[in-house]
Order: sequence, then C-alpha cells, then structure tokens
Amino acid sequence: GEVIVKLKSGVNKSFLNDKSNGLSLKKQVRDNLMVVNFDSALKGGIESTLAELNSMPEVEYAEPNFIYKIVKPITHKDIVSDLLKTDDQTYNTPVDAKFGQLWGLHNTGNNTPGGDRGVAGADVDALRAWGITKGDRSIKIAVIDTGIDYRHPDLADNMWVNDAELNGQAGVDDDGNGYVDDIHGYDFANNDGDPMDGHSHGTHSAGTIGASHNAIGVAGVMADVEFVGVKFLTDRGSGSTADAIESIDYATKVGVDIMSNSWGGGGRSQALHEAIERANAEGIIFTAAAGNSSTDNDSRPHYPSNYEVDNVISVAASTSADTLASFSCYGRRTVHIAAPGHKILSTTKNGGYASYSGTSMATPHVTGVIGLLLANEGRLNPLDVRNRVMQTSEPVPALRGKTINGGRINAYNLLTNTIPDRDEPNP
Ligand code: CA
Repeated sequence: GEVIVKLKSGVNKSFLNDKSNGLSLKKQVRDNLMVVNFDSALKGGIESTLAELNSMPEVEYAEPNFIYKIVKPITHKDIVSDLLKTDDQTYNTPVDAKFGQLWGLHNTGNNTPGGDRGVAGADVDALRAWGITKGDRSIKIAVIDTGIDYRHPDLADNMWVNDAELNGQAGVDDDGNGYVDDIHGYDFANNDGDPMDGHSHGTHSAGTIGASHNAIGVAGVMADVEFVGVKFLTDRGSGSTADAIESIDYATKVGVDIMSNSWGGGGRSQALHEAIERANAEGIIFTAAAGNSSTDNDSRPHYPSNYEVDNVISVAASTSADTLASFSCYGRRTVHIAAPGHKILSTTKNGGYASYSGTSMATPHVTGVIGLLLANEGRLNPLDVRNRVMQTSEPVPALRGKTINGGRINAYNLLTNTIPDRDEPNP
C-alpha cells in the first residue's frame, strides 16, 4: 500500500495528500522524495497507481516502496542450534579458544565449526595483515542492518560515540544533525536514537568486522574501528526502501568510511540508487551481500548488490574447503569478490555468540579487510579500492566464472598491493 514518489523541483507536494483521489502523504524522506499511501480499492492496485503517478507532469518518478530482508541462508537455524552447544561449553573462555574457530581469519584446515574439513590458508590472511595494521579508531563503519548490541563486551569498546548527544539532553538534537539522541547511531525502523539489535543479524556482522581483540570471545578482522549502528531492519529482519534510503543518507551525513550491507530483495529502485550515488560522491565504500538464492546475478539481479555505482562491492560466500557456498549467488559480470561466509562464528544479541552462514557473513569480512586498507593508507577512491580488491584477490579454481575475476579476498595482498598471476583466461 505504499509507493515512493520523487517530485520535480519546485512542485508543491499537497496533491499527494488527497483522500478523494485515494492518496495520503505518509512521510517526507528528503526535500523532493515522499512516501505515499494509496487506497487500493480506489486506485485498483500498485501497477495502476504507479502508472497514474508516473504520467503526472509534477512527478519525476514513482516506484514501489519495496520490503527488504536480511540475507539469510536456508541452513541458518540448523547451524545456530548446532553451534550454540559448542558455544555454551566455550563461553567466556580466552580469545585463543574462540579465535581457533575463526577459519575465515585463519584456516588451519581443521578448525571449521561443526567439523567440516577445510583447506589450510583458504582465509582472508588476517595474521599476516595484522603484521601491518590491526585497524584504527579513526575508521568509521556503518553496519546498516538490524542494529548492533552496543553493550556486547566484544563490541562496546569499538562503538562510535556522538559526544554531543552523550553529554547532551535527552529528547534534544544536541549536535543539530537532524536526529535526536543518536549516541551510537539511529533506528529508522522505529524512528528513535537507539539502534539496539533485537535480532542478532547486525550484531553478527559487526563482530566479524571488528570484535575487540580483548581476551574474550571472538576477534574481528579489525581490532580497532568505530561502528555506527544504523538500524532499518526490524527485530523480525525486514524493512522498507524509504527506511533504507534514510539509513544511507544518515551514514553519509555522519561521514562514515564504509557502509556494510547484508540485506536485499525487491526490485530495482531509482531512489535507492540515487542514495548510493550520494554516498559514492562522498567517497564512501558500499559493500553488499550478493544474496543466498544460489542464482546468477548476471541474469537475475539482486539489489542492492547489483546497483551499478562505482562504490558498490558485491560479495559472494566461500567455504572453508575453498568452494563457492552452495547457497551463494554468483555472477561473472556482477559479483566482485568472494569471502568466507559459511559457518562463521561471531557475536549475537545479549552478549552471545553463534555461528551463521550466508553472504551476510561474507560481506563483513570484505568490509573489515577494506577497513584495514583505509586504516593503513587513508581514504581512497572507491572505484580504485574495488579494482584493487579484485586484482589482489587470491585466485580460486572453484570461483572461476562465478565472480568477475574468480578470487577470494586477501587482506595481506590488498595491503601490500600484491597482485597474483592469473595466467588462465577468465571463462
Ligand atoms: Ca543528533
């Protein structure tokens, strides 16, 4: 029952709030971007509503306000229940015990949760990269998701703190950025300043990017980083195009270095495309999960990972055996890189830990590795970063023809700009 309408400049929005014509203005997202409810009985459904709006001279475009969901694999529940048992036994043990299960950071060939056989070295090469940098608090990363458990003992020290709001008055926009009480981020699902995670998906993503190296729990790709919690997916894991746009615009305004996006669905949205372009214009990287439907994104586009903006990096999931995960989407023209995304142990809500699988888990590995690069070299042009991520990736036979150049991300190669030989043609 909702559409997004972009008005031409200088047009009065009042005609979008006309009950006699079956339209009511729900929300103004930006100056000229509106969310409008329509009366299905009067308008005859979304297609005819969009056709009518798109034919109006005042309207630049009208499109559906899509529902997006967390990118979640079919095997999710099985693996969580499997691993919660392991977790219970190892909870609160020193970092080394849990670090030993993080095959995505350091694959020994024998350390995949659940006992799968792995391939030693089929990881992001974190140990060698950490010889160069472990990250820096100056790097801000927005996790655009279900929120972050910002009290989690493995994440609390790496949360962004908006000092003006922390030291300011409750209910007042102390820093004047247009958002009230946004101390650690914002919640666009509930329109308040509290991005606490009631689901776990966003918290899991944050832990992979940058759980503290603090002798408890797990370790992130980055030891030091600042997370901005940007919540637009509800505790049930879904959210709308309009809220996604507000999330991206908020993170752009905060001035993050990277936005990590483990969500998708719906069709192509011009309004969302424009929000990603605004982030790109500020030099912000936008990593995005390729999707978990085992399909080819070249022929069946998945959004937001398929938007053709220079800062978008689409991420497929690899396994500890160095194969493409069975659920992972792929695309030799549209997926840029693969990263560990199968049986990934990380942080969950209420201070917990669990192992999940999905391109949702691969994406934060790429986010964290790029975070290391920016910590080491400062802001870089997003397109240059994307090309360097692909060129320095480790060629993996199982990924040939599945991503643009058939590689798994390698943090050490990326930091040192080491470009492996690719002597065989890309099929
Ligand atoms: Ca504020």
